[in-house]
Amino acid sequence: KLYNEVQDLKGNIRVYCRIRPFLPGQSQSHTTIEFVGDDGELIVSNPLKQGKENRKLFKFNKVFGQATSQEEVFKDTQPLIRSVLDGYNVCIFAYGQTGSGKTYTMSGPGLSSKSDWGVNYRALHDLFHISQSRRSSIVYEVGVQMVEIYNEQYVFLDLHTLGIWNTAQPNGLAVPDASMHSVNSMADVLELMNIGLMNRATSATALNERSSRSHSVLSVHVRGMDLKTNTILRGCLHLVDLAGSERVDRSEATGDRLKEAQHINKSLSALGDVIFALSQKSSHVPYRNSKLTQLLQSSLGGQAKTLMFVQLNPDVASYSETTSTLKFAERVS
Ligand code: ADP
Ligand code: MG
Repeated sequence: KLYNEVQDLKGNIRVYCRIRPFLPGQSQSHTTIEFVGDDGELIVSNPLKQGKENRKLFKFNKVFGQATSQEEVFKDTQPLIRSVLDGYNVCIFAYGQTGSGKTYTMSGPGLSSKSDWGVNYRALHDLFHISQSRRSSIVYEVGVQMVEIYNEQYVFLDLHTLGIWNTAQPNGLAVPDASMHSVNSMADVLELMNIGLMNRATSATALNERSSRSHSVLSVHVRGMDLKTNTILRGCLHLVDLAGSERVDRSEATGDRLKEAQHINKSLSALGDVIFALSQKSSHVPYRNSKLTQLLQSSLGGQAKTLMFVQLNPDVASYSETTSTLKFAERVS
């Protein structure tokens, strides 16, 4: 069967696919992306193989082709992010093999230029902007946390130079040990991100190597005091740059590398199982099977909203990883 239909948006789970462009110097002669439709259709095939049976069609809530800007991606993410100010919990994930553009989508290629900003900076910028515009009726406070999960252990980033946020017990939080920091402006956010990055970077290569094997979670907690009703509302946004989904060759990986691979495999399948159970409206949702799903439990399911960016590398050399990424996406859609 040619069609590999991904079912349409169920409940509060949506899946967007983003294809990163070929990088400068990379040969563009063999792309696995045959067609990108306006309504979320995607056809992939292996250009080195002949025949129509080699083509597979997928359907997402949206597909962003290679020329899509950071701004366009954000535009379709913004309503979800703004709902946090109305008291919703939202989780946004980037899933894909290493090099497929997860970090680019979530953070961007660097902090230098605003037009390059990824979802996380744009989200915070937008939250500050909207909360300012509502300040005569609702007074908002924003706190952030950064947690990394490596080998099924939490790694807390030391952000001690920033102010501690202790106004209230936030919701959507399963790691009370991670410090929460109040942020009032983009300047605060950028400072925090820099400290976070410096914390992770014992060396440039270590950062790169390690970041592809750990999940990094930026949690934004919002507390709003409604001045008319004197009630408090709370919302939470988790922005998750997942570990690389590539399969590690078992015959080659040994020791630490094998252990890392097993932990990643376990936690990504646990995440897939949770989202699958939610999409099936199953009565049992297996949150306890990984640190990642435990951490995000209160923001996955119920009234919470979930968005998964499925990232693809168009190069033919990535074809088999692309197929397994799409298989994961199909299951959680
Ligand atoms: P990952 O986090 O999945 O390992 P990265 O986000 O680091 O992947 O992307 C790998 C490389 O591709 C980086 O050099 C990044 O700048 C580039 N890249 C990824 N997505 C895009 C894009 N949409 N436009 C331009 N360059 C991109
Ligand atoms: Mg990355």
